[in-house]
Amino acid sequence: MRFAASLVLAISALAPAVASAEVFQERVIQSDPDAVNAAPANRILYVNSCIGSNGCTVTRSGSNSSQSNTSSIPDFQTVRLTPYMHGQAHFDMVMECVREKMAMYDVQVTTVDPGATPHTEVMAAGSAAAMFDREPGQFPGGIAPFLGCNGQVQNGLAFLFANDTAASQIQYLCTGIIHEAAHVWGVSHVYDDKDHMSYARLGQEKWWQNSMSQCHDNNFDPMNCPCSGSTQNTFRTLRNTFGLSPTLEGSTVALVTPLDGAYVGPDFAISGEFMGPLDRLDATIYIDGVLKTMVEKTGLIVATASGLAPGEHTIRLVGTDYGDRQVEVTHTVTVLESCETDAECSETDYSCLGGKCLPPASVDGGLGASCEVREDCASNVCGVADGDSYCTAACNDGECPDGFYCRGTTNGVCWPGEGPDDGGDGGSDGDDGGGCSTGGAGGMVGGLLMLGALLVSSRRRHV
Ligand SMILES: [Zn+2]
Repeated sequence: MRFAASLVLAISALAPAVASAEVFQERVIQSDPDAVNAAPANRILYVNSCIGSNGCTVTRSGSNSSQSNTSSIPDFQTVRLTPYMHGQAHFDMVMECVREKMAMYDVQVTTVDPGATPHTEVMAAGSAAAMFDREPGQFPGGIAPFLGCNGQVQNGLAFLFANDTAASQIQYLCTGIIHEAAHVWGVSHVYDDKDHMSYARLGQEKWWQNSMSQCHDNNFDPMNCPCSGSTQNTFRTLRNTFGLSPTLEGSTVALVTPLDGAYVGPDFAISGEFMGPLDRLDATIYIDGVLKTMVEKTGLIVATASGLAPGEHTIRLVGTDYGDRQVEVTHTVTVLESCETDAECSETDYSCLGGKCLPPASVDGGLGASCEVREDCASNVCGVADGDSYCTAACNDGECPDGFYCRGTTNGVCWPGEGPDDGGDGGSDGDDGGGCSTGGAGGMVGGLLMLGALLVSSRRRHV
């Protein structure tokens, strides 16, 4: 139906009792399907509490205008909407919510009359009984005069009868105001009860939903969406109409594990984070460019890599926020070769320790390279002793490559150097205290040792 009926926000949780389509169908303004973008002037949403005056006067007219306060909606020639009855401080709280819900769009929300500057206006004041000659129980909670597809209608005027609502209903008032404004911009009712355009859960916090939802009419029956075909995505409808706010911060994604440059085994866990001013629409993890997993909205961003061949691999996380903005991050990891002897390592200067071919100190994370946290190291062990920190690996005496000795009486680790001068059998069991004796009374372990005593940090590097 191209001619949109007037749209009513019910006071109650479900459909309004009013058969408003019949009442207002002669006064509907035709939508212009060719209009794509809102005129800049229409980017102002003025929410009028009618506080500070003797209320707002609305005159019945064939034209609907926020400039002249004329409307096709009232049953009476002249209507006075009494000032917002919950007071300025309460109204300010409602407006804080309204601004929050509209902040992502390039729309200016104001409570100051823009005067002659074209604007969309919602009067949040008065009682429906002042506007309609109906039986009790037949009054709408709010009403908009038309659906102006793509926001092309200038100076629209809609109503939210705030004084029919209890002070406790801040969420309802917030939702009601933007619900009626959105009708003027061309947004219809949908069934998704998390959306501002649903009749359901009116007292609950809602958001514009970036998902397709079936439209419904004033009687809660399915209908074709007047401006968008069979279904409607309210978030995108408004984004397409106004664009995103130029001050909206970007979203970011981070790969928590594995860290960039990490050495890993053929199987490892991947986890990521999404941060931003908008909710996450989805997050996708790719391994070497191949989609591994995609999680929508609130699901944990996790995946498991398994059976990767030795060598470099890329882990890429792509996040999409509600504004359809994509952000991504890529980490490169190296899968270590498995081995039993040095000879099995493809690289001749690699050492086989703990079943893995570990690179030399000249490679970041290699055996003997400096480190801060264990994730810095191919071996996943960062040893600390005598003020030095080196990537190490567990060893038995005699196992370490040239330039290292097996340091520690038990659970020794390969440590750079020749070992203590203990008579020529460097690195033998026993007195292999470090050069700088800091051990306590009776301690032979001058600086460190033992794998278990190593400072093996698990703190994350900042990414
Ligand atoms: Zn509505």
